[in-house]
Amino acid sequence: MTAKELKQELEYKNKSAFDTISEDELERSFAYAESYKLFLDYGKTERESVSYAIAMAEKRGYTEYRLGDEITEGGKYYYNNRGKELILFKVGEEPLEKGAYIMAAHVDSPRIDLKQNPLYEDSGFGMFKTHYYGGIKKYQWTAVPLALHGVVVKNDNTVVDICIGEDEDEPIFYISDLLPHLAKDQMGKTLAEGITGEGLNIIVGSEPYREEETDGAIRLNLLRILNEKYGIKEEDFLSAELSAVPAMKARDIGLDRSLIAGYGHDDRVCAYSEITALFDTDNTEKTVFAVLADKEETGSDGVTGMQSEIFADILAEVCEAKGANYRVVKANSKCLSADVNACYDPNYPEVLEKKNACYINHGVVLSKFTGARGKSGTSDATAEFTGYVRNFLNDAGVVWQMAELGKVDQGGGGTVAKFLANMNIDTLDVGVPVISMHAPYEAISKLDLYMTYKAFCAFIA
Ligand code: MN
Ligand code: MN
Repeated sequence: MTAKELKQELEYKNKSAFDTISEDELERSFAYAESYKLFLDYGKTERESVSYAIAMAEKRGYTEYRLGDEITEGGKYYYNNRGKELILFKVGEEPLEKGAYIMAAHVDSPRIDLKQNPLYEDSGFGMFKTHYYGGIKKYQWTAVPLALHGVVVKNDNTVVDICIGEDEDEPIFYISDLLPHLAKDQMGKTLAEGITGEGLNIIVGSEPYREEETDGAIRLNLLRILNEKYGIKEEDFLSAELSAVPAMKARDIGLDRSLIAGYGHDDRVCAYSEITALFDTDNTEKTVFAVLADKEETGSDGVTGMQSEIFADILAEVCEAKGANYRVVKANSKCLSADVNACYDPNYPEVLEKKNACYINHGVVLSKFTGARGKSGTSDATAEFTGYVRNFLNDAGVVWQMAELGKVDQGGGGTVAKFLANMNIDTLDVGVPVISMHAPYEAISKLDLYMTYKAFCAFIA
């Protein structure tokens, strides 16, 4: 045997999907990316992504399930958790004690939330106070167009939906930054300190109410506009969830259009791939769950986060309907925890270790473990379960790669994986490599998106 043959036989190479993909499949992956871009444009908060996913599910025969409702074999259901988390499931024919197939992604993304009492006036500007949501680099959120999304719950419990700044003819919102001419002190600070959390105040307007001389006339005028447009008063802010998100739409990057820039790829890219895989796969044997969780970016706590017991409750209800032992079902279930990973970035090679990083266009990323500093906080999939996933991906011709998030001791991160693993469900992290993760405008590749979709299809086929 020649050395070349031996290499071919024994060595592992992390390869680009472009090496093997057919023209036909390449075309399909680019077409798939078009529908994904719409999912991004219409879902910039977890609430909007959940609504969009519900509309997609209903078109495909899924019906709303409420706790206690009857569940039948062959049934296709969705559970809408307070409009902020969605659990889709279809009930298969095979005994559930063989295990359920679970895909779990999140649909919340880093952003700038308004404080509960946000409106004030200073030096001729009407402003909103904010408290950022998730892990952001604060300086990235200044001097970019922002849209305002969310809900206001009025005193009579009616809910007003707000979405301002997405249409070209609508106004946007804006956080100022300092001109370089006067930024001597600011430029000497670290990136973490250059812009402060309390400094992320949003410009909302500047025109006073001019009927008569009054204090706070700009504030008053803004309240007047909000009242005329939405019927809300200042106290209504106290029971509102309003977020400033990037006003940009998803767009292709590059002369070859192979990449997509967009807000909230983390983690709507995995959310979209898992639900479309669910819709496009017609296996009637398996019982499959697709979770679109909220609150991942703040630790998965709360009623709509992955640490809430709602997923366990629904699984238990399905077990009861199928006459299956809940504990046995969990022990035999399999989960792909779907979240993005840090793509190898040639501008920042120093934080990634080349042999264990993920690369653009090299397909869906598997991460056996996540965590930081000595793997702390990871659920760490077993070698056996990792082998199981590797095997079906190879069989299905899915291009995949294995990576960990960054160099040892450089930092790290977690996903929802451990919350499912803690339930005694085998769980492995899979996802899409992302450039500029958590920035207002992140980037991914169309082929990686498509391979992630294909991976989910293979998992539940
Ligand atoms: Mn994520
Ligand atoms: Mn994230």
